[in-house]
Amino acid sequence: MRSCDNPGLMPMEQALSRLLERTPVSDKTETVALMSAVGRVLAEAPAAAVAVPPADNSSMDGYAVAVGDLVADGDTLLPVSQRIPAGHAPQPLEPGSCARIFTGAEIPPGADAIVIQENVRLQGEQVIIPAGVKAQQNIRPQGQDICAGATVLEVGRRLQPADLGLLASVGISKVKVARPLRVAILSTGDELVEPGQALGPGKIYNSNRYLLAGLLARLGMQLVDLGQVKDSAEDTEQALLQAAASADAIISTGGVSVGEEDHVKAAVERLGELDLWKIKIKPGKPLAYGRVAGVPFFGLPGNPASALITFCLFARPCLLRQQGALDVAPLMVQAQAGFNRSRAIVRQEYLRARLADGKVVPFSNQSSGMLSSASWANGLAVVPPDTRVSEGDLIGFIPFSELQD
Ligand code: AMP
Ligand code: MG
Repeated sequence: MRSCDNPGLMPMEQALSRLLERTPVSDKTETVALMSAVGRVLAEAPAAAVAVPPADNSSMDGYAVAVGDLVADGDTLLPVSQRIPAGHAPQPLEPGSCARIFTGAEIPPGADAIVIQENVRLQGEQVIIPAGVKAQQNIRPQGQDICAGATVLEVGRRLQPADLGLLASVGISKVKVARPLRVAILSTGDELVEPGQALGPGKIYNSNRYLLAGLLARLGMQLVDLGQVKDSAEDTEQALLQAAASADAIISTGGVSVGEEDHVKAAVERLGELDLWKIKIKPGKPLAYGRVAGVPFFGLPGNPASALITFCLFARPCLLRQQGALDVAPLMVQAQAGFNRSRAIVRQEYLRARLADGKVVPFSNQSSGMLSSASWANGLAVVPPDTRVSEGDLIGFIPFSELQD
């Protein structure tokens, strides 16, 4: 489907779903200790060996009683027949008595309610239990959280800290996960110099290399760093071949325009296949996607802010999917615009912006060469195509935590 007002520009959602369709899912797996599994993608659905909680237990400090032992409409005086701290096995409750019990301790057989300690009075060695005790009160039943045998998490889940706790709660100590993807990065451009070196005439420091290294580290992926690649057909081909031989995916920056010094497009076409996508977004309209010797390839724009945004919007979800992750879409929230834009453009715009005190404010200069804007921002404001914005309008905002973690 083509946009009428700008033929050939592909809407963002369509581009992403096409890219995801073409993404091969890696079947390389490994088994890792739960302790180091955060961020990894499950390759096998773990089942609970035990219920959580494994037995009925008390949710409060107090006294375990049998409701049948209590006077219906008045106080009941009961002796204390045992003391049950958490972690200690209870004895069956002696009829006509109560048990001192603490939070997390197992309910003794025969008891069916916990009376919290604040609601009782002591009379010598005896406890006065007031009227109104209901069966099951303050008891966390066996299996309330998880039933034994249940599938705890699905294949394709990227493990969050809470997931590790959940898996531990059912006794799982190891998980089968996807092997981390090896991702090769190439920074094209004769003008690039590494930080730490002197900047000669006409040169600039290579920022994309560090930007991408950081983004990939956050995804738990292995960096295959091919450094700077000179603007020549030969160097570009050489670097791409080396990348294809040593990585599961390749990302380059720069060199994908159609200028004489842009060699990436032609090199990828010689070594594999390439589509140059004109996506209806700003920044980052040209995105190259293809394969080099069968290895998925992303050609990101050279301008650092565009490289960042196209990585986050396109490469990140594809890399996560390649690693087997199911949920790869970032969460977008709605927030009030703290700015006006009287001019509407045909492309969907991603503004480096800051959400603070409930308002979204874009950085004053959205030039795609300016990384200070992205450092200042805490996310991207999304302005749909052909849309004007007035202060107070609700607009989409994707926090960087959704795009960079
Ligand atoms: P290109 O797409 O190669 O024409 O690059 C577009 C712009 O991004 C040019 O101004 C480049 O100098 C700049 N650029 C390309 N690669 C990098 C990089 N790795 N770090 C910083 N700027 C870059
Ligand atoms: Mg260049």
